[in-house]
Amino acid sequence: MHTKSVLVIGGGIGGLTAAIALGHKDYRVEIIEKDPDWTVYGVGIIQQFNVVRAMGTLGLLDAYMAEAYGFDRTEMYNPGGQKIAEFPTPRLAGPEYPSNAGIRRTDLQRVLATKANELGATVRLGVTAKRFDDDGEGVEVTFSDGKSARYDIVVGADGVHSRTRAQIMPEAPKPRYTGQWVWRYNFPQPDDMTGIRIFVGQRGAGLVPLGKGQMYMFLLSEEPEGFRLALEGSAAAMRERMAGNAPQIVALADQVTDDASVVGRPLETIFLDGPWHKGRVVLLGDAVHASTPHLAQGAGMAIEDGLVLAEELAAAADPEAAFAAFRARRFDRTRFVAMNSVRIGESQMGKIEHVDVPALNRETIALMAQPI
Ligand SMILES: Cc1cc2nc3c(=O)[nH]c(=O)nc-3n(C[C@H](O)[C@H](O)[C@H](O)COP(=O)(O)OP(=O)(O)OC[C@H]3O[C@@H](n4cnc5c(N)ncnc54)[C@H](O)[C@@H]3O)c2cc1C
Repeated sequence: MHTKSVLVIGGGIGGLTAAIALGHKDYRVEIIEKDPDWTVYGVGIIQQFNVVRAMGTLGLLDAYMAEAYGFDRTEMYNPGGQKIAEFPTPRLAGPEYPSNAGIRRTDLQRVLATKANELGATVRLGVTAKRFDDDGEGVEVTFSDGKSARYDIVVGADGVHSRTRAQIMPEAPKPRYTGQWVWRYNFPQPDDMTGIRIFVGQRGAGLVPLGKGQMYMFLLSEEPEGFRLALEGSAAAMRERMAGNAPQIVALADQVTDDASVVGRPLETIFLDGPWHKGRVVLLGDAVHASTPHLAQGAGMAIEDGLVLAEELAAAADPEAAFAAFRARRFDRTRFVAMNSVRIGESQMGKIEHVDVPALNRETIALMAQPI
């Protein structure tokens, strides 16, 4: 195959996955990442059966599972701490691999970056794209460091506040704050833990096993627009928000003591109903469909995007046809995740009618298990 050149903007989960998938199809990939230190925060991420399947397709399942904690079910608890449902999930990567995984974000990034590098992708840190000149045959990109280079295509994987999106589609909607924050903290993993424990109710929370003796907690809270979290006092702020939650959550409060280990983030969402590309520049991941984490599928959608984009590019005669086919394959699935994740949050905040989370979870599991 004729080797084509691709610039991937953003060295996050979506950008690295796209680089690996394109590398497998013999594309020559260069990644630029604006963060000079390529920092990733130290808590974990839930990766469900469709992500474990994707890791197999990306050719890195064993390296990934060596860093992750595999499990086959999700348990759901009411605000009083009683178990109300249990969801077995399918083993999509084969009977010898667990269904789901919990993994530290730092470990996930290392596994993905190592594979991208093995496949020949290069990474330049502390660099952004200032300007695109697309002449229909290729894109001349001018970088923030003054250099410029020409690529056959450009992939914008630069997250919910995507500058690439703003550059190619200034008219596109902007991300919206949903009204909730998520707080996370690492704890020692209890010996009897065999899967995720989700606590439903007005104040959602969860405990996610990570292996290597660790788990992390996520905790939702409603905060006013413009709320800012100062480093000093952040452990006390998280403890305050744990109060009144299920007993299993409250019992961990006295271990939340280190301000620097609290990871608090506002939840923002965006979904592009219109095109996902302009000319030879295409967007993927949170840049087009950032959802809240209520269904724990945001990164899953970014990862699947990378796989589907590479498949469509390898199959189509020209990039724009591939980009249109990519969006057509991804639209309904990513919209389901984005819209329903936001719905759960709105229901927790009392902004819409009650959402039956166990029922929605069952529907999501069935849908996410479908081939992409
Ligand atoms: C609190 C919280 C919890 C979550 N938990 C889960 C979960 O458990 N499971 C799950 O599947 N999903 C989860 N998600 C969602 C998941 O984190 C995102 O969907 C996923 O990170 C999207 O990947 P991405 O590569 O599109 O964007 P990002 O991960 O945001 O990566 C974008 C990258 O681009 C870089 N960048 C930004 N601008 C530029 C620029 N101009 N030039 C170059 N580089 C740039 C950034 O530094 C970053 O490295 C969660 C999200 C939140 C907010």
